[in-house]
Amino acid sequence: MSCHFCEILENSPYQLYRDELATILLDYDPISKGHILIIPNQHYLDLDEMPQRVINHVFKLAKVYVGLLKKAYQPKGYSMMQNGGVFNDVGHFHLHVFPRFSKEEFGWTYMEEVEPAATKYAELKELFGKDLALAIKK
Ligand SMILES: [Zn+2]
Repeated sequence: MSCHFCEILENSPYQLYRDELATILLDYDPISKGHILIIPNQHYLDLDEMPQRVINHVFKLAKVYVGLLKKAYQPKGYSMMQNGGVFNDVGHFHLHVFPRFSKEEFGWTYMEEVEPAATKYAELKELFGKDLALAIKK
């Protein structure tokens, strides 16, 4: 299996930081100045496949980076985004972190509402409520 990130991570010209667990690359097509990707060095596709210590490390880097961004660029805010499964266009986990200077530079599109939101929440509670509480305790 060949993976673009596995091939380029170590020596990418976009590299901003690297340690034993993760690498930070500048996004090659940034949404805003300061848009980065935090990527585990090991190959994982999705969040639920990753060891907790790697997840903790990725978010520790995100925390440090957000702090530095605030100092450097004074953004109005920031966003983080992570696409899984077929929506991960590289096939290797990466967490986007980017500063936001206006609402216009990035936006969501919403699906059309087919039923009141509260109905869906009730169904989710039924489906996942107890399992979530149990899984989190582990
Ligand atoms: Zn990979």
